[in-house]
Amino acid sequence: MPPLMLIGIDSASLDLILKWKDKLRFFRRLIEEGFYGYLRSTTPPLSPAAWTSIYTGKKPCKTKFYDWLKYIRCPCRRNHIRLRSSFDLREPTIWDIATAHRLKSAIINAPMTYPPTYINGVMVSGIPAHLYSGYPITYPVRLKEELDLLVDGYEVMPRLDIFRFFEYDLIKRLKNVVEKRGKVIEYLYEKGEWDFFMPVFFTLDTVQHYFWNYFDENHPLHKRDSLSDIIFYFYKKIDSILDKFFRKIGEANILVISDHGAGPLHGYFLINRFLASTGFLKTKKTSILKVLSTLIFTIVEMEEISFIYDIARRTRIPLVDKLIDKPLIKQIIERFSFFPLMELMSGDFLEDVEWSKTLAYALGAVGGIFLTRNIPDGRKEKIKELVKKALKNLKLPSGKKADVKFFDGYESDEAPDLYYSIEDFKYLPIVHLAGWNSRIWEKPMFFTGWHRPLGVFFAHGPLFKKLKNDKIPVFDIYDIAPTVLYTLGLPILSDMDGKPIFEIFSEEAKRKLKTRVANSAKYRIARRIYLSKTRMFLKSYMRRVS
Ligand SMILES: [Zn+2]
Repeated sequence: MPPLMLIGIDSASLDLILKWKDKLRFFRRLIEEGFYGYLRSTTPPLSPAAWTSIYTGKKPCKTKFYDWLKYIRCPCRRNHIRLRSSFDLREPTIWDIATAHRLKSAIINAPMTYPPTYINGVMVSGIPAHLYSGYPITYPVRLKEELDLLVDGYEVMPRLDIFRFFEYDLIKRLKNVVEKRGKVIEYLYEKGEWDFFMPVFFTLDTVQHYFWNYFDENHPLHKRDSLSDIIFYFYKKIDSILDKFFRKIGEANILVISDHGAGPLHGYFLINRFLASTGFLKTKKTSILKVLSTLIFTIVEMEEISFIYDIARRTRIPLVDKLIDKPLIKQIIERFSFFPLMELMSGDFLEDVEWSKTLAYALGAVGGIFLTRNIPDGRKEKIKELVKKALKNLKLPSGKKADVKFFDGYESDEAPDLYYSIEDFKYLPIVHLAGWNSRIWEKPMFFTGWHRPLGVFFAHGPLFKKLKNDKIPVFDIYDIAPTVLYTLGLPILSDMDGKPIFEIFSEEAKRKLKTRVANSAKYRIARRIYLSKTRMFLKSYMRRVS
């Protein structure tokens, strides 16, 4: 049987693919000959949560990946928060189950797989591996040298916190990353006899975050510019790489998925300031130093930073480019930057919270709301309802009543109790509290696009049927792992939250394939063994380099 290919394209939107299908050869083939639909993401629709659910077939309350960072309730300090690594994922993944059954997998740049873990096959870590140095990013470790040689320095992702200031430079770097990935995918494919082959492209997510306003004529910050086509350019780029690759390798069973979709971002909602203004959150008395810094930040308003950024972007002077590499300048940028990954979700603000008087606060990349430990269990629902009521009365900057929808959080000390969307995710809640001013709305800046809960799903190849319906179906993200396992003839674990998507398979395939279900205990032990093997090879690597 040809190998099963699971192609991940972070943030790919089915609506955009359908809109551009006549210009996308690979996707047009998938649409015309295969089965496709939307793929409903996790709550929250955020890469770390969604991808780990794809790998395991389990909800975030089982994977414990709700966000990029690991939180605890009422953390008090930002150093109580840390970035999640592959060691945090204790649930068996598709490739752990494949490894336990001696099937060979290649996992290439899948998010949240840093450091790379022991596998029967190869693994190249995905984001946020680019934020680290130290551990190797490949298993086997020496594979990195091969890839470096092949593409003249392999990159997981560029460091966005620095380069986002220079759009053309950012585009050049992203283009480089995609092209190198294409070569690496071909190289690794040739290198082994794979049962399961899973490359992930992350670039579209970044491009849509930064450049949505250029292509979307209804965006409040729409600009006609040479960048208007840049989102299409990257869809086309990935399409060409995949088209070339699949024409070369011939017959294959292909699944293409994204972890969530994409749409416009019209502004930021400062949720912790809102909770402070409605009395759910209390801040400490401000010190002189804080007053001073608040004053400075009030003088340098968001708009001014945006203005400076705009000028920097327009000048494109090489000198400015060089300047930005100086450590002091970097520090200043990082201090002022509104949106770097870490600052966005951690909490400078945590030290300003008067915890004993606070009932609710928000933390994380989507501003999920936590109730504090001050609230007795019996009162929790009541307080949650009061927070909801306050949010339901929220007014947009235009004065119009905001359309706020609520999503259940999780019963866990590590997860928010409540998630919500404002105007169908057009406004992104962020957790900044003090320091700037007391406004609860800010214009979109740096990011002009954000996620949507519906991603893509395509199935194409000898095993799969063609979609006959006019109505596009919506599939569930938890069904991906069971579907892959079913296709590979591997057992589906009884505690997975999804099931194989039987309707995509041809009658002949269904006659051949068998549904096997197994208890997860054995595979959880297997994952633990692979993680301890990982610790061993990391240790010997660290000894060698030090
Ligand atoms: Zn994503």
